[in-house]
Amino acid sequence: MKLEGKTALVTGAARGIGRGIAEVFAEQGADVAINDIDITGGAADDVVRWIRSRGRRSMAVQADVSDRNGVESMFEKVWKELGHVDILVNNAGIETIIPFLEITDEQWTRVTDVDLRAPWLCSQVFCRRVIAEGRKANIVNIGSIQAAKILPGRTHYAPAKLAIEALTRNTSAEMTPLGIRVNCVHPGFIATDMTSWIQKDPDILSSVVAQISVGRAGEPRDIGKVAAFFASDESDYVTGQSIHVDGGWIFK
Ligand code: NAP
Repeated sequence: MKLEGKTALVTGAARGIGRGIAEVFAEQGADVAINDIDITGGAADDVVRWIRSRGRRSMAVQADVSDRNGVESMFEKVWKELGHVDILVNNAGIETIIPFLEITDEQWTRVTDVDLRAPWLCSQVFCRRVIAEGRKANIVNIGSIQAAKILPGRTHYAPAKLAIEALTRNTSAEMTPLGIRVNCVHPGFIATDMTSWIQKDPDILSSVVAQISVGRAGEPRDIGKVAAFFASDESDYVTGQSIHVDGGWIFK
C-alpha cells in the first residue's frame, strides 16, 4: 500500500472528489481527516464511518478553509486526535457560472477566496507546523481543467484555478528544499454534485462526453488515484507539477 503509516487531511471531503480521494487514501493505508464547511448533515460522518470500517483512523473536522482562525483550529484538532499530518489535499472548492458583465465584487471575492486564497492559507499553516516538527510532507492541490479550457461564465473561477498551477510551482520551489513536495491535479468532467446539472441533461451530457477521448465522465476515485501517486513516495522525484486528469478532454 502506497500510503501505509501516513495521515492525510482532505478539505471539502464530505462528498464528491474529496470523498473519492479520502477513500482511495484509506485503501492505500492512510488515516484520513475529513474537513468540510458543514459537518452537521451526516455526509462527513458517513465518510468517517466508511474509512473506519476499512481499519483506518478518521475524524470529521469543520472549518471554512478560507478563514485563518478556522484553519488554525482545524489543524490543531487533527494534530491532537490523529497525530502529525503528512499529507494535505487542498480540494474544497466552489464554482458558480455568472456572465462576465454581471459578476459582482462579492461573487468574485468568494470564489477566489475559497478556490485560491484557501489553498495558499491551508498550505502555509500546514507547512509551518511540519517544518517546526522537522518532518517531511506532501501537498496535493486540486485545480481544474479550466486552467486550460475556456467555459462560459467562469471569469472568476478559471483564473483562480489557473493560479493554482503557479501556487503549486512557487510553493514547491520554496518548500521542497525543506522536505515538502507540492503537486496539482486538474480534474476534467467528474460526476459530483458540482456537475449534476450536466449529468441531468441528456443533451448537454452527450455533447460533453463526446469531447472526452475516454468516452465517459470521470469518477471521484479517478482523481483519488492520481492524488495518491503524488502523495506517495512513488513520486518522490516529482514536485511543482500540474497534471490534467480529464480522460483526454483538452487534447481531443
Ligand atoms: P462538490 O461536489 O461541490 O464538493 C465540494 C465540497 O467542498 C462540498 O462538500 C462543499 O461543502 C465543500 N466546501 C465548499 N466550500 C468550502 C469551504 N470554504 N471550506 C470547506 N469546505 C468547503 O465539488 P467537487 O466536484 O467534488 O469538486 C471538488 C474540487 O474539484 C473543487 O476544488 C472543484 O473546483 C474541483 N473540480 C471539480 C470538477 C468536477 O467536474 N466535479 C472539475 C474540475 C475541478 P458545501 O457543499 O457544504 O458547501
